[in-house]
Amino acid sequence: MLYTMQLLVFTTVFVLEALPGDAGVRALAVKYILEGRTEEAVLILSKHYGIPAPKIRVGLPKKCKSAYGCYVAKHRTIYLRSSDEYMNPFVVLHEFYHHLRSIHGKHRGTEKGANKYAADSIKFYRVMLSG
Ligand SMILES: [Zn+2]
Repeated sequence: MLYTMQLLVFTTVFVLEALPGDAGVRALAVKYILEGRTEEAVLILSKHYGIPAPKIRVGLPKKCKSAYGCYVAKHRTIYLRSSDEYMNPFVVLHEFYHHLRSIHGKHRGTEKGANKYAADSIKFYRVMLSG
């Protein structure tokens, strides 16, 4: 079990070294979201990717199918259910991924891609904490 954990950390560190800028900014964004500085988190990420920052609104529009959050490309806005989701890095980064993909192309990206982007960012944050 311990060996598996070490292997996981080693693999993640390798990814960090491969993508120092991207992983570092995403780790910092996770930290900001946990601190309730979600607007700053999406600002540093948007600056990093060279895209306009999305607006953040607490409260879901009626057409939103998810219980936690959604991204409406037409408004360039991330909607979050409540202050709990506002401080939840997984939810915020999942929706930010849809923003990133929508800005770069016509497609908002898959749910799988959004979940991976969010989960990897949290991994980068854990590595930053342990490092
Ligand atoms: Zn989604």
